[in-house]
Amino acid sequence: MTSTRWLAEYAWLPERAAPTPEVLIETVNGRITAVTPLSPGGPPDAGVDVLADAVWLPGLTLPGLANAHSHAFHRALRGHTHGGRGDFWSWRDQMYAVTARLNPDSYLALARAVYAEMALAGITCVGEFHYLHHGAGGTPYDDPNAMSAALVEAAAHAGIRLTLLDTCYLTATVDGQPLTGSQLRFGDGDALRWADRVSAFTPDGRHARLGAAIHSVRAVPAEQLATVAGWAHRRDAPLHVHLSEQPAENDACRAVHGRTPTGLLADHGVLGPATTAVHATHPTSGDIGLLGESRSGVCLCPTTERDLADGIGPARRMAEAGIPLSLGSDSHAVIDPFEEARAVELDERLRTRKRGHFAPAELLHAASAAGHAALGWTDAGRIAVGGRADLVTVRLDSVRTAGVAPAGVWFAAGAADVTQVVVDGRVLVRDGHHLTVDVPQELADAIAEVTP
Ligand SMILES: [Zn+2]
Repeated sequence: MTSTRWLAEYAWLPERAAPTPEVLIETVNGRITAVTPLSPGGPPDAGVDVLADAVWLPGLTLPGLANAHSHAFHRALRGHTHGGRGDFWSWRDQMYAVTARLNPDSYLALARAVYAEMALAGITCVGEFHYLHHGAGGTPYDDPNAMSAALVEAAAHAGIRLTLLDTCYLTATVDGQPLTGSQLRFGDGDALRWADRVSAFTPDGRHARLGAAIHSVRAVPAEQLATVAGWAHRRDAPLHVHLSEQPAENDACRAVHGRTPTGLLADHGVLGPATTAVHATHPTSGDIGLLGESRSGVCLCPTTERDLADGIGPARRMAEAGIPLSLGSDSHAVIDPFEEARAVELDERLRTRKRGHFAPAELLHAASAAGHAALGWTDAGRIAVGGRADLVTVRLDSVRTAGVAPAGVWFAAGAADVTQVVVDGRVLVRDGHHLTVDVPQELADAIAEVTP
């Protein structure tokens, strides 16, 4: 039995508007067994002697943060595509060039470094929206799930949990044009063959679980959407889908199907409480109604959406409709949950020219419990008895955070302010350093390997 007592200078507990000072958090075998605020008027026996064995956590301790939308290999493009003009579609061409260099070995090395970068930022769980399944020309590897296995192993090395969202990707356009070039590696032929391949895969390790994804209405023909959704529903697995990231997708879907992408997904049984729509940058009012009524979630990826000039999603309107919001770093132009979270509020300010749309506790919820729930880990993301012992400690004495009110970290801190990360009770990051991965070196080496 491994038991630890942690004494947090501040901890952000569930349903609290702001952090609580001096909180004793007890964990046994990776679970939180007691949470005790010590002041003011803490328990009578909580004297100095009783706390002598507790691990002191200076700063603010948050629950584990969840990155609900990742394409690990996009990290290789950071800093290579940002100077010039172009748009989502030209960026995508550059992204495809990287895929040509990826195989199970090079992807393992790259993803391990990227997931370790996430750990340094306080991310204890990632949703990998995985569509790079096959070898050159679309020829399956000897193990058709070799790339999936590489990603699961990468997360184990990096020490974080992973939901592998195995992505069905069959066509190039809404009107069913076939995959060509780099895209051939994404395709399984049809949704039934996708389901057969995914069903044959069991992630190796308790840190990983399997979910499904529909790449987008561009990539899965309407009559095959229900096959993917049915696979996820039968297994009670998370189901994710890129949705309305670009107005062009809406226009094409209306032209072909006479429906918005959200409407098409609703028609084919894709929406529901286990479903997360990624982006939802350009939904109609009717789309927001469909998402809310079906209790589907939305994963916002603000740093990617601004990098790709996608636009600003109607975050507050979606929240008002009852849609749970989670966060993802998607293309990894930035891996910083603080930047992602504050962007939700700050983008809304730019659009409305008013302040105060999301309370700090709502930003925390999106970055933690809501993200974990969207990935199927409903027992994580809260510092509460019975929850997974994920603790992310943020320093309050850096040049960015000195003098900041603890609740204000969402508007002041960055990933570099994370000093310690505990995942399932195990210390993964200490003093801002990953304990098993030399993250900058491994990133540099892995990216050099796959950059054209
Ligand atoms: Zn994406």
